[in-house]
Amino acid sequence: MSDDLFLKIIAREIPADIVYENDDVLAFRDVNPQAPLHVLIIPKAHIRTINDMRAEDTELFGKLFLAASEIAAEHGVAKDGYRVVMNCNSAAGQTVFHVHLHLLGGRELGWPPG
Ligand code: AMP
Repeated sequence: MSDDLFLKIIAREIPADIVYENDDVLAFRDVNPQAPLHVLIIPKAHIRTINDMRAEDTELFGKLFLAASEIAAEHGVAKDGYRVVMNCNSAAGQTVFHVHLHLLGGRELGWPPG
């Protein structure tokens, strides 16, 4: 857990541009944005990857998507469209091992992703 960068953001030990917070979820702008709107939405609980999700985390993961829809609406991308992505482990490009939903919007997004 001590190597969990995002726990340090939750604890305000390192700075982040926070756009959303409630008891269970925090969201902040990605430091290396891949779209005009690029927000990371994370649970405050330490969960390393989707593979570590348990049945009792189902509601918590749902809250990540609810936050995504609220942030998208607040930032004006809900109507045009946006993407949410969660990478799992190295082949998918996961580099921070605290689950996070990427919210990308504000430009045309190609498919399939690279
Ligand atoms: P992933 O590759 O899916 O694990 O995504 C990790 C994301 O975290 C990348 O898009 C990074 O740019 C982003 N990131 C890493 N460190 C920070 C930070 N201190 N604040 C905000 N975003 C970060």
